[in-house]
Amino acid sequence: MVKYACDNCGYSFVPKGERIPNMCPYCNKGKVTKQKTAQELLDESEYRE
Ligand SMILES: [Zn+2]
Repeated sequence: MVKYACDNCGYSFVPKGERIPNMCPYCNKGKVTKQKTAQELLDESEYRE
């Protein structure tokens, strides 16, 4: 499950369907960015040395 969060207000949500919204559904102006899951963070730290 991929979560997205608003850079403006911090509202996080899971988009319905496959479309990723360009704007925050809560404040309608934030830039929406994908939040990393705990597993993704783990995977990244393993590649780092
Ligand atoms: Zn927002």
